[in-house]
Amino acid sequence: MLQKMSEPLISSDIPPLAEVVDIKKRIEKLEAMVTSIDTAKLRLVTEFVENIGIWRCSKCKQNIDNICTGWKLSKEFADKIVSIVGEGAVVLQDNVYRINISRLPFVGAICPIFVAKI
Ligand code: SF4
Repeated sequence: MLQKMSEPLISSDIPPLAEVVDIKKRIEKLEAMVTSIDTAKLRLVTEFVENIGIWRCSKCKQNIDNICTGWKLSKEFADKIVSIVGEGAVVLQDNVYRINISRLPFVGAICPIFVAKI
């Protein structure tokens, strides 16, 4: 014999699926943002920045065979770069992690420690 449930002693104004509804709205918002991005322009900007970086690093005294000797990376940051860009993006020279600028050419475009070759 089934026992009749009594009325619950607690209640809420929040519907049970409020979080799911909120997540769905966020995903829809993100979808709209992603579809509105002009990928061709984004690629052009990326290419432009990379070429500025290549040019700048080629004129910089701290570029030795495409390895930037200006920046010293922590192991944590070096690992992060490698996880995103892949092996070879960072090299270990004399126990110092250095940027392989041929793999990360955009760095030169935003680099504040550029030293012009004389
Ligand atoms: S411009 Fe910056 S990133 Fe490029 S070689 Fe010079 S110091 Fe390194």
